Amino acid sequence: MSPSATAGGNSCAITTTLETLGKNKELIVWESLAKTFQDAVVIVRRLGLRYLWIDSLCIIQDDPADWSKESGEMANVYQDAYLTIAATKSPNDDGGCFSTASSSHLSRQLTASERNSLLQVYARRRLPHSVYWSENPSSSYGSDRFPLFTRAWCYQESLLSARVLHFAADELMWDCREKFDCECGYPEFNKAISELDILPMLPKISHARALEDPLRLPQRWWKIVEEYSALDLSCAKDKLPGLSGLAKQMQRFLNGRYLAGLWESNLFADLLWIAVPNRRGYERCLPWRAPTWSWASITSPATWTWELRHNASMHQLTVLASLVEAKCYPAGSDITGELSSGHLTLSGRLFTTQFSGPKRGSFNYILDEFDHSDYLGKYKLFSDILLHENQQPGLELHCLEIGRIQKAGKIVRENKYYLVLEKSKIERGAYERVGLLSTCDEPLIAEWQARSRVAVVKIM
Ligand SMILES: [Zn+2]
Repeated sequence: MSPSATAGGNSCAITTTLETLGKNKELIVWESLAKTFQDAVVIVRRLGLRYLWIDSLCIIQDDPADWSKESGEMANVYQDAYLTIAATKSPNDDGGCFSTASSSHLSRQLTASERNSLLQVYARRRLPHSVYWSENPSSSYGSDRFPLFTRAWCYQESLLSARVLHFAADELMWDCREKFDCECGYPEFNKAISELDILPMLPKISHARALEDPLRLPQRWWKIVEEYSALDLSCAKDKLPGLSGLAKQMQRFLNGRYLAGLWESNLFADLLWIAVPNRRGYERCLPWRAPTWSWASITSPATWTWELRHNASMHQLTVLASLVEAKCYPAGSDITGELSSGHLTLSGRLFTTQFSGPKRGSFNYILDEFDHSDYLGKYKLFSDILLHENQQPGLELHCLEIGRIQKAGKIVRENKYYLVLEKSKIERGAYERVGLLSTCDEPLIAEWQARSRVAVVKIM
């Protein structure tokens, strides 16, 4: 491929539409380009490269077919590009790439004396930044300095790219599959944490290493979902399209199908996601964008329990249900993109219980059958949505046994996981997922086992 660079953006002075396609092919007037894209052209020319890819100019914005086709090609565009230019400091396309560091962080010439000679040295104050996508936005030097890091679409662009040059507010930062570097000396911190063996926390390096070791990919995917699902998405239906490129990249290494953000080869562990309530809400996305068994169906971020994320535990999950059928229908031509419908049919042990309401706040949901003063510690009900706003106390919930893990400790304990389902309002006889139930209480496991029956369950 010819040397090229890509530049991302969201709002734009000029875009390519069905109407402007012909005109844009002939000429794009310099002044009509947003500042960030003018800067990208300057950078590309100075680097001696010939081609520049800009999503909003290279994809016909009002043509759903072209958009679906090109967003499906995103993995190749970013992986094959020579360099990705990131206007990391800009909240939109008018912000540009270039900036001047604040005076307190500019490099200064200092004179030092060594024996009898004078030395001229340059020094600058280190910036208190981090580069983690999952970084806490409330940090004093956090996401307001890196608006790009809060945008969901840019997440896969960064991970897929061979190398990214970040134009941040106070410095340039370099991020590739082997190294993170920046002007302020952050790499020294980098070196320190690598000695503590937490360097793989750096997303691109961690991702590149996982691709070399397919056994690590299922957990790498969980990390991706955890980070990605916490980011801002301007268009709700883009949840799956925004990860489509990464899904395609990983599909080359993972057996089986990609099912609405889950992998068939790791389906039962992938199904055990839990919702993390955040400021943006705690509910099912409307209009429909994914089946309820997919983390993409909710508006809040998703993660997996600590027991599951713990490396050894994930591989020790004993699956107790079986897959009868899994169907996902794409809305366009991209099979890892937007969906029009999907369902999962599982066979396993099912028991029925009753929902009682929240105990304290919105987290501690209780099931009706227990002494409420004694329920904590016996089981945990992680709901996907605010159950008490949608459900009346006394409503039936159906719990489908999915698997168990052994928790090693002073005493080896078994932790069992169940999908919590309610009867579907859309299809008679089918179910919808509303949460996840886990318990390590032996008498409870025995009781639920005795009450359950084997059932074939279709989950919408
Ligand atoms: Zn730095």
